Amino acid sequence: MKKTLTTLAVSLSLATISTISQADTLIYAGNAFTSTSNELLSDVTIVVDDNKIEAIKEGFVKAEEGDTVIDLKHATVMPGLMDMHVHLSSQHGGPQTYLDRFSLNEADYALRAANYAKITLDAGFTTVRNLGDSYYETVALRNAISKGIATGPRIYTVGKSIATTGGHADPSNGISHLLRPDVGPKQGVVNGEVEAREAVRSRYQDGADLIKITATGGVLSVAKSGQNPQFMTDELEAIVDTAKDYGMTVAVHAHGKEGMKRAIEAGVDSIEHGTHMDEEIRNLMVANGTYYVPTIMAGKFVADKAKIDGYFPELVRPKAAAIGPLIQKTFEKAHKAGVKIAFGTDSGVSAHGDNGQEFALMVEAGMAPADALRSATINSAQLLGVSDILGTLEAGKLADIVAVSGNPIDDISLMENVSFVMKDGVVYKQ
Ligand SMILES: [Zn+2]
Repeated sequence: MKKTLTTLAVSLSLATISTISQADTLIYAGNAFTSTSNELLSDVTIVVDDNKIEAIKEGFVKAEEGDTVIDLKHATVMPGLMDMHVHLSSQHGGPQTYLDRFSLNEADYALRAANYAKITLDAGFTTVRNLGDSYYETVALRNAISKGIATGPRIYTVGKSIATTGGHADPSNGISHLLRPDVGPKQGVVNGEVEAREAVRSRYQDGADLIKITATGGVLSVAKSGQNPQFMTDELEAIVDTAKDYGMTVAVHAHGKEGMKRAIEAGVDSIEHGTHMDEEIRNLMVANGTYYVPTIMAGKFVADKAKIDGYFPELVRPKAAAIGPLIQKTFEKAHKAGVKIAFGTDSGVSAHGDNGQEFALMVEAGMAPADALRSATINSAQLLGVSDILGTLEAGKLADIVAVSGNPIDDISLMENVSFVMKDGVVYKQ
């Protein structure tokens, strides 16, 4: 009998030891924006176990032996921010940017992407959608980050965008006949349904997570129109249907109305920029549940730079001056009309790491600060199809947690200075 009791005591103490060895990280949050509602919680403890949120408890829970305490009592804690439109491999740096594609190789782009990814994570963005690279370097970067070889946000990438001949994102635009490369579906140029399907399948093969197409002209390409439709309905339907077969969503660059209309009717998931969206398009987006990713920052950036002589090539300058200033107003109307909004900046046009400036532009255009925060968390997670693991502070979600000093509901510009970054339970900035 005595012996049995001793055995019991030993096994109990072992159980106690194993509980202690599973040490938690306790985050003491003065305010917490969980993104499950527009309310702020105050004085809570977020318990992080390994890479997951284990619990959110009222008050500042006393740490047990071995626990790590992170004191953010002065700050507002929220889910890791998500930017649905970035280009990590490049950053616009004036006229010479147009020469990069003649002088840079895959490795140059890859190294740039690794650098900008680090800067983006540092700004509080723990997840991004990369909507267009040059050589699938962001597929390699995504894999390196998830293996811990490189540091950056969790990346969902399209690889290389898909355009039609001469369209926005055709990599052979603006090159002399003598030097122009032969480009096809693999390089992102399609004509007709067959090539449209081939391009989607080729991206699946090369490791893309989703598809991006350029349904209308764009601002920065060396081509005349910034808004004409550039895909036919049969091509759009071929893209969307094929993407669905491979479990991929479709993001659509669009400025002009007709291209947007065709794309939404074909069943795409998000419209990027959306400059000339009118009431008919807004209604169509609401009816189809299509997301709008505004990128107001990119509009402001190109409108500003269009004022500088020689900053853009002659074909680009008038497009930048005409389209850039309209996007914030488009956003205002879309938000009022109840179009679903996901946060996106087009960083790479503006500087990486400035992503948080988009929040103030959204609020300036009439969005409540809490809704702006939700656009970059719960809404973006829904657009990505990862609501089960990301987008809110809730037990069971991945521990992607950021914080700013003070209260961003009172002053949204605080989002430009994220002071704490945790991704997957690992602290990257404190
Ligand atoms: Zn873009």
